[in-house]
Amino acid sequence: MSDGLLVIGSGPAGVSAAQAYRDAGGPGPIRIVSADEHPPYQRPPLSKDVLRGDAPAEPVPIDDEDPDLRGITVDLRTRVDRVDTDARVVHAAGREFGYRSLVVAAGSAPDPLPTAEDGADVYLLRSHADAERLVEAASHARSAVVIGSGFIGCEAAVSLARRGIAVTVASTEPAPQLERLGERASRLLAGWLADEGVTVIPDVRVTGVGAPREVHLSDGTTHSPDLVLAAVGVSPATGFLEGSGVEVADGFVVVDERLRTTAAGVWAAGDLVRAHNATAGRALHVEHWGDALTMGGIAGRNAAGGEETWGSAPGFWSEIGDRTLKHSAWGDGFDEVRVVEHGDDDEAGVTVWYALDGAVVGALTYEADQDYQRAEGLMAERTPIDDV
Ligand SMILES: Cc1cc2nc3c(=O)[nH]c(=O)nc-3n(C[C@H](O)[C@H](O)[C@H](O)COP(=O)(O)OP(=O)(O)OC[C@H]3O[C@@H](n4cnc5c(N)ncnc54)[C@H](O)[C@@H]3O)c2cc1C
Repeated sequence: MSDGLLVIGSGPAGVSAAQAYRDAGGPGPIRIVSADEHPPYQRPPLSKDVLRGDAPAEPVPIDDEDPDLRGITVDLRTRVDRVDTDARVVHAAGREFGYRSLVVAAGSAPDPLPTAEDGADVYLLRSHADAERLVEAASHARSAVVIGSGFIGCEAAVSLARRGIAVTVASTEPAPQLERLGERASRLLAGWLADEGVTVIPDVRVTGVGAPREVHLSDGTTHSPDLVLAAVGVSPATGFLEGSGVEVADGFVVVDERLRTTAAGVWAAGDLVRAHNATAGRALHVEHWGDALTMGGIAGRNAAGGEETWGSAPGFWSEIGDRTLKHSAWGDGFDEVRVVEHGDDDEAGVTVWYALDGAVVGALTYEADQDYQRAEGLMAERTPIDDV
């Protein structure tokens, strides 16, 4: 056992946990162990400017005011395979790391395409190394199939199209994110994809991908593009916690509103948690950059002796080409949608309010920052949708 903080993962949750612990005067040395091969960097640009070819190839530090993470040791290429919470030791890459306090922030890993044959050339996008490989392939591709119409799929499709590549999105949904965001938001996204020259094939499953790039769809068609990107979702990276005494349910680390796990001296934050949100009054799972930063900060300060709770409303921005969509929601569904158009066409802006049992539970905005800004308060106060 050491007398300091150990953090697993060098994404936003892990980095902000380490910084927050340091800034709160937490005792002992501070160390991050990470499977990643690059020093901590920003992930959101990977599907946007980096894939478009508009950003430098170098990873962008997570915090440009503290790019070298003063006072924090970072061990890269150090994948954790086991945690012993009784002995307070983490086993990683043949080494042992003791801790007094541990923050688990290993994030998510992209789901592989289950129907891809061995030898099929299917790219995934999560890390900077993934982006480097994808950008290299895109630099001599003339056609691409993107599998999945979630935010990563939509962003990547438009970024590839901006490089002059003919892009087809194969989607299991009748329209992009129809179920998650409702008809109006889905129509907005579909319009943007069409404007950028992206073709969407709705309501299809990928029945197989043969080597090297034969994409077979459930509508009977086969596509043979120069590049295939699967963006079919992510799963929490929690396998190494098996047998550790840290409770994991449905793959997610269970934490309370102070981001404490069920094991003494262990906190968790970011994509891999299902955390009790003090304002929502229920456990939530979110996969957003800003929320990972926020949760990491809380976990780090609490590991240093604080008693902070997580209660902010989850939210993210998605940049699709030159357009930015903003979304804030508790994320566990809605049964009513109210649309406010801010002009005669989509470019004038739109706000979509989401309600559950008559109360505001979320908002999606385009060119309507005033609504995005007041969404959190309306959600926190469970404002009746009729009063918005
Ligand atoms: C291309 C892309 C674009 C995105 N764009 C946006 C956006 O615009 N807005 C938004 O809100 N969100 C966006 N996201 C989602 C956002 O990046 C994630 O929600 C966020 O990174 C989660 O942070 P995290 O710290 O929990 O995990 P991660 O960022 O996934 O970091 C986890 C870290 O743990 C390491 N790790 C994993 N397993 C182990 C192990 N066994 N041992 C040691 N280390 C391990 C990983 O290498 C990594 O360093 C995007 C994601 C991607 C992939």
